[in-house]
Amino acid sequence: MSEPVLQCESVSRIYDDGDRSVNVLENVELCLAAAEKIAIIGASGSGKSTLLNLMGGLDNPTTGRVLMLGQDLALLGEGDLCRLRNRRLGFVYQFHHLLPEFDARENVGMPLLIGGLGRGEAWRRADAMLDRVGMSHRLLHRPAQLSGGERQRVAIARALVGSPDCVLMDEPTGNLDPHSAGQVLDLIDELGELSAAFVVVTHDPAIAEHMHRILELQGGRLEQRP
Ligand code: ADP
Ligand code: MG
Repeated sequence: MSEPVLQCESVSRIYDDGDRSVNVLENVELCLAAAEKIAIIGASGSGKSTLLNLMGGLDNPTTGRVLMLGQDLALLGEGDLCRLRNRRLGFVYQFHHLLPEFDARENVGMPLLIGGLGRGEAWRRADAMLDRVGMSHRLLHRPAQLSGGERQRVAIARALVGSPDCVLMDEPTGNLDPHSAGQVLDLIDELGELSAAFVVVTHDPAIAEHMHRILELQGGRLEQRP
């Protein structure tokens, strides 16, 4: 067995707002194998985004550890964490978070430029990935010139362009009409053959059914669905 991509070891997260403290996650355990695709479901406010942010190194657990390819994210310096995020991880959010002043090719190629690749090669790989997600006819369109579903496909291309080990998606179809959501779901399904592990947070049962495992957050606990 190859090394797990991501591990949560007894992860708890308490938000402390002075007079009030909220215990959002309690002793969450998770082991994500290479190329494994999982769904995390749970009611609004159950801590799905909190957990995803911990997995992406955007936040640290109150207690416990999050390991990415065996490395404790909380122990990495800022530079190492940025490099790990750039090379190993991809993110897709509910709102696309594309840069409005850049076109699709530039948005997708940006992580590669930041990672040190030359412009020509970055655009070449961006174009290839945009083709992969069915967006080769919109390379030079800016986000405002794209539909919601198209923006989300560009965001998925951006997350995948660096061949990450793990892609974290936070309600990737949550902001889309049912038709566009269906198309994005088909795309995620089709991308299932990629070697990246996927963690898809959703309350759409249709997405969850396409994953290898479904886990549910409830009362701060993460439980596997039978
Ligand atoms: P979900 O993504 O499942 O809807 P979240 O992870 O966003 O849930 O939030 C879980 C709970 O933690 C909610 O009750 C929310 O209000 C609370 N919460 C989230 N972020 C913060 C924060 N920065 N400070 C205090 N409470 C927070
Ligand atoms: Mg959320």
